Amino acid sequence: MNIHEYQAKQVLKGYGAPVAEGVAIMSANEAESAAKSLPGPLYVVKSQIHAGGRGKGKFKELGPDAKGGVRLAKSVEDVVANVKEMLGNTLVTKQTGDEGKQVNRLYIEDGADIDRELYLSILVDRTVGRIAFVVSTEGGMDIEQVAHDTPDKIVTVAIDPEKGVTSGDVAKINDALKLSGDAAKDGESLFPILYEAFTEKDMSLLEVNPLIVMTNGHLRVLDAKVSFDNNALFRHSDIVELRDTTEEDEKEIEASKYDLAYVALDGNIGCMVNGAGLAMATMDIIKLYGAEPANFLDVGGGATKEKVTAAFKIITADPAVEGILVNIFGGIMKCDVIAEGVIAAVKEVGLKVPLVVRLEGTNVELGKKIINESGLNVISADDLDDAAKKIVAAVKG
Ligand code: GDP
Ligand code: MG
Repeated sequence: MNIHEYQAKQVLKGYGAPVAEGVAIMSANEAESAAKSLPGPLYVVKSQIHAGGRGKGKFKELGPDAKGGVRLAKSVEDVVANVKEMLGNTLVTKQTGDEGKQVNRLYIEDGADIDRELYLSILVDRTVGRIAFVVSTEGGMDIEQVAHDTPDKIVTVAIDPEKGVTSGDVAKINDALKLSGDAAKDGESLFPILYEAFTEKDMSLLEVNPLIVMTNGHLRVLDAKVSFDNNALFRHSDIVELRDTTEEDEKEIEASKYDLAYVALDGNIGCMVNGAGLAMATMDIIKLYGAEPANFLDVGGGATKEKVTAAFKIITADPAVEGILVNIFGGIMKCDVIAEGVIAAVKEVGLKVPLVVRLEGTNVELGKKIINESGLNVISADDLDDAAKKIVAAVKG
């Protein structure tokens, strides 16, 4: 689950991280009092959407010469004018796709005088099996570009889970970020704070880009992107409250109601698979035969008929889907349950696109019999390779 920047800053502030004062608003008539509650004379008006690259983003409605999704303002009137221009419009950034995202919330923040913009993130580094800091002096811009062009400017410091962030780790990070004096002292408290927030709240990503050194020599968290591990949300009701479903894919929201592991993708072949590994393999083989999957979907081991029906409905409701591949290996999951779910769903929503079904494992004969006797126009397949070839051929027609 993702949250907005202002919410992430609120969470980090709770741990003692240095963030600016700010007020989130959802309507233009809140702008003046929000700005007046801040010290000034510099303000920042920041679009709150679940996507990065807002500063360099463009509003669809405003034309190419208008300013981006993060704007500096030098007076209360200036804040109000910018709020009126931005709120309700559609911001297109590198991360939103061409359709962009409607800006329904703005964050009015006390502006900082910046000396340097740095990059800092904390993530789960699977290559070493640890939580790691990833830092660079080249913050504030496309870190992907830095990683590509000058990878030596990115430094990783993995943290020993038994020791936490040691003074040695802090020294390494301070050194990598070329921090000295007050900024280095700030780092001594900030890095352990961020690590504590990350582990306690079960974050999967905490990205501060930029972390700034202000002209007064101190550090400040200027931007914050936080993602949480969905599997741990049950123990963080305070975090769940921050969820903004208007920022999420409708199909993914529907899937989460049924506890389905579903991720919407850009292709045209809908996939219903059990097991994350098999789902990945299914996506790979669809690509191998020259097509693109419309989704990742793992119905899980013990899926019920209702769950399978819900999954099938989500797939068929996606207008991008031009063909469906059901690929099930019945272990705990039984093939007849899948077959019944598919048929129930088709009876409810109809089937307007080709459907290839590959069943294997527990109760496979019964599953095949149910499908064959259903009268549905199903293309059956013998194995994964055969199934992928058939659905790709059917879609390319
Ligand atoms: P992003 O574009 O979505 O990553 O949004 P950021 O919050 O990172 O803001 C983009 C850029 O706006 C930053 O890299 C800064 O250069 C600038 N910016 C944001 N806040 C301030 C501020 O308080 N003062 C100044 N001078 N610039 C800011
Ligand atoms: Mg940023």
